[in-house]
Amino acid sequence: MRKKLSVVVSCYNEELALRQFYKETSQVLKSLPWDYELIFVNDGSQDGSLDILNQLADEDERVKVIAFSRNFGHEAAMIAGLDYSSGDGIVCMDADLQHPPECIPSIVEAFQEGYHVINMVRTKNESAGKFKNFASSSFYRLINVLSDVKFEPNASDFFGISRKASKVLKDHYREKVRFLRGYVQNIGFKRKNIEYEARSRVAGESKYSIKKLITFSVNTIMCFSNLPLKLGIYAGAIAGILGLAVMIYTIWSWAQVGTPNGYATITVLICFMFAVLFLIVGIIGNYIAILFAELKDRPIYIVGETRNFNEEEE
Ligand code: UDP
Ligand code: MG
Repeated sequence: MRKKLSVVVSCYNEELALRQFYKETSQVLKSLPWDYELIFVNDGSQDGSLDILNQLADEDERVKVIAFSRNFGHEAAMIAGLDYSSGDGIVCMDADLQHPPECIPSIVEAFQEGYHVINMVRTKNESAGKFKNFASSSFYRLINVLSDVKFEPNASDFFGISRKASKVLKDHYREKVRFLRGYVQNIGFKRKNIEYEARSRVAGESKYSIKKLITFSVNTIMCFSNLPLKLGIYAGAIAGILGLAVMIYTIWSWAQVGTPNGYATITVLICFMFAVLFLIVGIIGNYIAILFAELKDRPIYIVGETRNFNEEEE
């Protein structure tokens, strides 16, 4: 029996890119030795994306559509794609053609060689700009220091994963605050890195604002490391040493010149100590927020409608 590839594409307001994406990607997929399904996850787009996707689904039965009831974010869209996919291998990619479809055959080849996790590593990101590239590399450096788990810098949301490996993600990595790219690199299995050159976005604009990226980075660090929680211990130790030094200094200057004027010292110390204290309280607060989200156990995504999945799946 021919094997099947599932391609998962998350779309949020991508009406300008979708048709070209479909055209280029289908062309590549048709040349593969595998059957395929092209799963589009419409992440609550407010533009005409869903109409275009439904049209494509009417024209081509290999196009399947999962439409969320509202915007749940890129990560949720990828999880939904994994949940609904039925292929022997799954490829996740963006709808803006930044992840070149020409790379798909090399991913399929890797599947055939027996690899379970295929990481696509970006060599060049033309469209992101210097700041975003710098921020991204700093982020990876930081998280590699903080976390036990090692991350591949420049890994992207472009990856291939076997059915077996995706089952692990589907069953056991359903955290509410999550970083799929990180999990993909952490589940083990036989893995391979393939380099690719990121293209520029074909149309439309990036959906990730700086604010979203910062929130995302902070959450990721907290999900993969407990070190920020221990910051309190270090801060306490440093404050203790500082306090001791000030005490010795005060006694010394009292012996030298009599009662010292401590007003400035007190103000500076109080400001400094409170800053450290509130920072730590904030960090703990953030961990509690993540815990709280877990505890409430709300769904990661809500599906409004689907197209071209067979009945039992729908
Ligand atoms: N995306 C999504 N939901 C969102 C934001 C983005 O499904 O809330 C999709 C978007 O349509 C695209 C992919 O995620 O296919 C990556 O987004 P984008 O290209 O804006 O990010 P960038 O490549 O600039 O990091
Ligand atoms: Mg993009």
